[in-house]
Amino acid sequence: MQVSDVSIVQCDVCGNPKKETNHWLIALTRMDYEGIIFLPAEAVEEPRRDNVVYEDLCGQECAHKRLSAWLDDLKNIDFPSTKKSEAE
Ligand SMILES: [Zn+2]
Repeated sequence: MQVSDVSIVQCDVCGNPKKETNHWLIALTRMDYEGIIFLPAEAVEEPRRDNVVYEDLCGQECAHKRLSAWLDDLKNIDFPSTKKSEAE
């Protein structure tokens, strides 16, 4: 068993190993961008960029879980630009 084999892709939500299926998705997030993008795994450009966080997801179910987690995080983010100090 090669535990150091980095070529094995695992789902970042449930830990499923990637097999020969084409239903995998990748969630992309960036430090400087308060959003999340879901793409089919085969649509993601290689090499991957340093300033983007890539999370491998084994399918729709885990994509939904990831989106829910992201939406939960969103409540905790303090967006200075959305605070409207202007009175009417
Ligand atoms: Zn999964």
